[in-house]
Amino acid sequence: MNHLAFGLGALAGLVCAALCFGVWLLVRTRRGSGAGSDAARQAVFEQWPTTALVLDPATLQIVAANPAALRNTGYSHQEVRRLPFTRLFSAEGTADERALLARLQDATAREPIEMRQRCKDGSLRNVEAAAHRLDLDGRPVLAVTVHDVTVRRVVENQLLERHQQLNHLAHHDQLTGLPNRLYLAAHLPDSITQAKEKGTLLAVLFLDLDRFKHVNDSRGHETGDKLLKTVAQRVRSTMRSEDLVVRMGGDEFVVVMRDIKTTEKVHEAAERINRALGAPMVVDGRTLVTTVSIGVALYPRDGLDMGELLRHSDTAMYQAKDRGRNNFQLFSPTMDQRLKERIAVEAALRTALQARQLEVHYQPIVDIDSQRVVALEALLRWRHPSHGFVRPERFVRIAEEAGLIVPIGEFVLQRAIEDMAAWRQSGATLVPVALNVSAVQLQRSNLAESIERLTKQHGFEPSMLQVELTESAVFERREERTREVAQDAVAKLRELGVHIAIDDFGTGYSSLSYLKRWRVDTLKIARSFVRDLVTDLSDLAIVSAIIAMARHLHIEVVAEGIEGWQQLEKLRQMGCHYAQGYLFARPAPAADCRRYMSGEPLDLTERLPVLDVMEATGTQDARPLRLIK
Ligand code: C2E
Ligand code: MG
Ligand code: MG
Repeated sequence: MNHLAFGLGALAGLVCAALCFGVWLLVRTRRGSGAGSDAARQAVFEQWPTTALVLDPATLQIVAANPAALRNTGYSHQEVRRLPFTRLFSAEGTADERALLARLQDATAREPIEMRQRCKDGSLRNVEAAAHRLDLDGRPVLAVTVHDVTVRRVVENQLLERHQQLNHLAHHDQLTGLPNRLYLAAHLPDSITQAKEKGTLLAVLFLDLDRFKHVNDSRGHETGDKLLKTVAQRVRSTMRSEDLVVRMGGDEFVVVMRDIKTTEKVHEAAERINRALGAPMVVDGRTLVTTVSIGVALYPRDGLDMGELLRHSDTAMYQAKDRGRNNFQLFSPTMDQRLKERIAVEAALRTALQARQLEVHYQPIVDIDSQRVVALEALLRWRHPSHGFVRPERFVRIAEEAGLIVPIGEFVLQRAIEDMAAWRQSGATLVPVALNVSAVQLQRSNLAESIERLTKQHGFEPSMLQVELTESAVFERREERTREVAQDAVAKLRELGVHIAIDDFGTGYSSLSYLKRWRVDTLKIARSFVRDLVTDLSDLAIVSAIIAMARHLHIEVVAEGIEGWQQLEKLRQMGCHYAQGYLFARPAPAADCRRYMSGEPLDLTERLPVLDVMEATGTQDARPLRLIK
């Protein structure tokens, strides 16, 4: 060993030449001719700012250490030379000690070797080492330089932690703490790949809370947020730990179930979620009930990639909403077709509004005794360029869902008032016009203000207008707040003098107290009861009860959909005063309606000349409108 110690100066030169080639070159260049000088090598080794060690490659015994090594470890030269290498350095973290030594001895590592340095005072430092095998007078040695990276490591760890925090923030929802849309996008594709490899099923459940917007609007966003947190906790605790529960935003959540063997498991899970959310929640001391509609898409049956699975589960969720909410639906290809259809109808309706494809027709409401027209009901018509006349029942619901019913309703109001002005201009004695107003329109538009403005503009009394509301649209609203908004709107209309009628009465649910409180003027008995009045005893009993009840409450009754003389006679006997139906007249364009304002009784002995234009074009069926091939 001694001969190695003797050659320390030369060795130091070799160490530095090998490990710090740049510095060595610098020294050489500065000294010009002293390239091989021992003194120069000695100086470099002595002054080298970081730890430099010379080891026996076989035993890893320290043979020489530079002053920086002694400073950095706290040991004297003698002490260092007696220390086994592994007392001074150990593998970092979980790394393997043997592997560390092997890497040092191998001395070909390109990457620095990470180690922990134990100083004489017991303190630990993080260091990085580089080892090189050198040849000294025909004998191999191991030259090792060591850099203290403790401070750098601290900074690196802080940065890493910060990065992880940012990463967590970016991939998680702040409010509920659940993973978010980005997280889903980063992980769902892998889950799909795994399902493909293992041949298992994967289910994507799309959850959308029912009527959450109303909670937000009526109770405020803070309560809405708390409700969402509770919902998130309930969904999370309902699922297995290996299932992924994601908040997509707003009141939408996605659950991914991996490794499923049968679809029953998915049914059970969806049912569990419906049940868990259906149970009342106490938020801010108030009990709230929020249900959820769930759409399910399965890999590989309903989609092969993330986009398709999410789209199809979303479509199925809409189907669940259509089926009365608070349920789950599995995707089926026909749903997709229906959704596309709906989107197409919505787009076509937007065009219809601008392209003046919408029209208003009128159907008389007749006094049964005198057979005089007492009012006209305005009925919306869509003259589609390739489908002819389209009935409102085929598009009103879509228009409501798309919010288009508000501008459409305004159009009908404006057109009705313009038609009234034209009839008046032609010398007719005007009768009131009834407008059908959907619940969405009643809540979202300022109907009373519009009526006040337009009637004033054209010099009509607002009492020349009636508003027809369906009971399901108004009374059946579960949320108190929504009912209040509707009731306020109705009160404003009444203040103006606008008459209020309940349309299709009997098909929904309205208690007597509502009829009284809302001070309804007219009930229109639904056509479904009138149709079989002559043959069906229960229909007869219902109609007779409605007429009797209305009489006590001083509410007028109109029977809808009268097509035959016998129906009319029955209604007359039961004390019904007004009627509407094909027997008297079909809906007709404004230009054909002037005749109803002559004050003369309708002549029902002749075949009526005015035909429902839709019948003429043969588009009366109630099949869904097909706008896409
Ligand atoms: P509704 O208000 O109950 O209107 C009566 C419906 O029955 C009309 O259908 C009318 O054409 C039809 N009808 C009238 N008499 C007879 C008859 O004797 N036999 C038969 N089979 N049918 C008869 P239409 O025009 O297709 O309207 C359907 C529904 O669409 C309306 O029912 C109303 O709820 C809604 N609607 C119509 N126009 C508008 C509108 O401008 N806005 C809103 N929101 N809804 C509208
Ligand atoms: Mg109506
Ligand atoms: Mg009706």
